[in-house]
Amino acid sequence: MEGADQVGEDAQRVIRKIIHVDMDAFYASVEQRDNPDLRGKPVAVGGSAARGVVAAASYEARVFGVRSAMPSVTAKRRCPDLIFVKPRFEVYRAVSQQIREVFAEHTDLIEPLSLDEAYLDVTQNKQGIPIATDIALMIRDRIRQVTGLNASAGISYNKFLAKLASDLNKPNGQAVITPARGPSFVAELAVGKFHGIGPATAAKMQRLGIATGADLRDKPVEFLRQHFGKSGDWYFRIARGIDHRPVEPHRIRKSVGAEDTFDCDIFDLDAACREIVPLAQKVWRACEGKGLTGRTVTLKVKYADFQQITRSRTLAGPVGGAEDLRAIAVGLMQPLFPVEKGVRLLGVTLSSLESVDEAQELQLPLGLPGL
Ligand SMILES: [Mg+2]
Repeated sequence: MEGADQVGEDAQRVIRKIIHVDMDAFYASVEQRDNPDLRGKPVAVGGSAARGVVAAASYEARVFGVRSAMPSVTAKRRCPDLIFVKPRFEVYRAVSQQIREVFAEHTDLIEPLSLDEAYLDVTQNKQGIPIATDIALMIRDRIRQVTGLNASAGISYNKFLAKLASDLNKPNGQAVITPARGPSFVAELAVGKFHGIGPATAAKMQRLGIATGADLRDKPVEFLRQHFGKSGDWYFRIARGIDHRPVEPHRIRKSVGAEDTFDCDIFDLDAACREIVPLAQKVWRACEGKGLTGRTVTLKVKYADFQQITRSRTLAGPVGGAEDLRAIAVGLMQPLFPVEKGVRLLGVTLSSLESVDEAQELQLPLGLPGL
């Protein structure tokens, strides 16, 4: 029983010190910092009163139930005074760079999850500070000094628990989950709160009588594998507060995507095909800039009623350029037409990424002279 072996093995490992740092309402806080008129007011970054989706909401907006990824129309209904602000990603990227420099004062084992979130492994740290909680305090103070923004932090012995901990005293707070407390913390938690268990899996667990971490821990690993496949082993471990995933400083990007929400819903295949062109170009430009290519193309379609579907195709070899990408996305889209309800959003994503150098190497014929 592999899962149980993992538990035994755990006792022999060095206890790590992991910090998860998460900026508070990041995009919205940057906008409020830079524009005093927005301070103390409900702000949504992204979207508009009529269309699109909220990318981030200020705490004043959250009081009204406004959340990120919420359609703007719903957000405006919940909070009629909501102020919509255009995102300024170049500013967010610059702030993100500043916070990474703060992290680097303590460790080089930094794994960014997004512009405003990262895991740090401070088991060994540059200033030789023994208590990770102290490091988290120093980092949050320094971030405030340098950027004028608040961050929250979670401190624990693995990534899974550190991420849960950073939410406990948000905003502008921090929490620690010690090895002694880890298993009982997980036991009391609703499975829907587990990072990596989405609403669909949580619902399936409910049907199997699993509502909390304790319920999950009671299930044998064979049972979990039978119902959840490969993820069964992962659930078995996290139910015991065990997560051996290292902090990976050079995390490989898993996908590059672009999407667009339209002013008017699209019913016509030709019109939809035209919208794919700039999306494919945008994705390809981003890949080129990073020296990447990929083999899996995914098309995302969101309908007027917000139902969302995806269609994917994985090629034997890497996509060669924007035109390839466009043609494959169009090929995935054609069978979806004619549509009964309008299309409000289209997205194109390239994944199964590899570096262009790597891809070219793989394509080189064997026995090429001179190699
Ligand atoms: Mg955040």
